[in-house]
Amino acid sequence: MNVSHLVLKKLFVGSLVIPLITCGPAQAPEQVQSTVLSPSPQLTTAPYQPDSGNLLVHCGALIDGRSDTAQSKVSVLIIDGHFSKIAAAKDVAADVPVLDLSEYTCMPGLIEMHTHILESFEELVDLTMYFDYSFDDNMAAGRKYALATINAGFTSARNLGNYYAFVDRELRDKIDRGELTGPRLQTAGFYLTIPGGGGDLLAPDISEESIPDHLRVGVSRSPEEFRANALKAVEGGADVLKVIASGAVLAYGGVPGEPEMSREEIQAVVEVAHAAGLKVAAHAHGAQSIRDSILAGADTIEHATYIDDEGIRLAIQHDVALVMDIGAGDWMIENGREQGWVEEFLRKTIETTQVQRESFKRAHDAGVPIVFGTDAAIYPHGMNGIQFAYMVEWGMTPMEAIQAATSRAAFYMGWENRVGAVKTGMLADLVAVKGNPLEDITLLENVDVVVKGGLGFKAHVENNR
Ligand SMILES: [Zn+2]
Repeated sequence: MNVSHLVLKKLFVGSLVIPLITCGPAQAPEQVQSTVLSPSPQLTTAPYQPDSGNLLVHCGALIDGRSDTAQSKVSVLIIDGHFSKIAAAKDVAADVPVLDLSEYTCMPGLIEMHTHILESFEELVDLTMYFDYSFDDNMAAGRKYALATINAGFTSARNLGNYYAFVDRELRDKIDRGELTGPRLQTAGFYLTIPGGGGDLLAPDISEESIPDHLRVGVSRSPEEFRANALKAVEGGADVLKVIASGAVLAYGGVPGEPEMSREEIQAVVEVAHAAGLKVAAHAHGAQSIRDSILAGADTIEHATYIDDEGIRLAIQHDVALVMDIGAGDWMIENGREQGWVEEFLRKTIETTQVQRESFKRAHDAGVPIVFGTDAAIYPHGMNGIQFAYMVEWGMTPMEAIQAATSRAAFYMGWENRVGAVKTGMLADLVAVKGNPLEDITLLENVDVVVKGGLGFKAHVENNR
């Protein structure tokens, strides 16, 4: 399913599109404008100068990502891709293009803490499909999903692993150079996992010899091997390391509640990552793996399905954030069988969906930091925003859910000085919706405007004068 195409088409339905003129210094405005507003996804490959936009945005309301209340009638001046001035409307004037969002609520660009931007639910029919994908096949997928992700309002994302090592690095760099359209990416490079673990494609009826080497770069058998492979990721340019500490839902033979890595193995990875200034994201469904990961020094716990009281206590004590993908289960259960997914994957999805939501509520009530991450790929990329409503249903206020996807997420990915807030000096990533997301959080399922580095990438703005 090509979600990005649907989203882009919507730009031109029943409303006037106000051009977001976003002049990079190095190119003709016509060229940039077609990049920004064209409904054709391939045009997004046109080169642009990242983080070079100048724009004056009049916001009907502003949720800045850090304050606990929204401000009404705020103008935001963006110069050279950064927020330059934020003040009461009409107090800001500048000789730059104006975007009138006076009937919209502006927010910082959203942050997806857990995506797999090269991968898709389509492979859940048969994971051996990955054996045949070339580097270029992966890049083509990544390009499509990166576009869908930014069109959904996610201007930053952590890509927590892919089977084909380091393709995500290439995608990240092309986006950073303005050769492709997509979110700012932190990339893991590959999965650090045991043989047959949640990040490996080995299974009882699949022989080791049949799996191409580039799909198993992070497969490790001891603390020493995990250390060496973690170093390989760091030296290869990873921004974050991903360990598969417990069994996985969407892997052959994995038992989500059971540990796969030992605490010593997780710790070996953490030592390498932290020495390089990188964070570690630990996939951990089971209570013991959650505790082991926190005690080994992991920075975020992914999934956290079976977290127990001790895990909750430890997460608070060590200031470890949970990334709980509570939004996808319903879609997966509704669509997985029809898609022809592996029966084992479906069974484990059904087993973990509700218990994870209950854990989310318990952890949130206890005060554990929880940030926004959806495990995009297990449902169509671009639908990321559906998780907001689940986070509110299971205990967060709408403002908490928005902060979980902006300033709080930025903090736990180490980008708190770059993104996640509409504050002077930060990168000018902004989204807007018509109406008040504090009253209707589902507005975030389809944002109307996306600005990244001051450049408009989506503008579905009605003429209200
Ligand atoms: Zn994942």
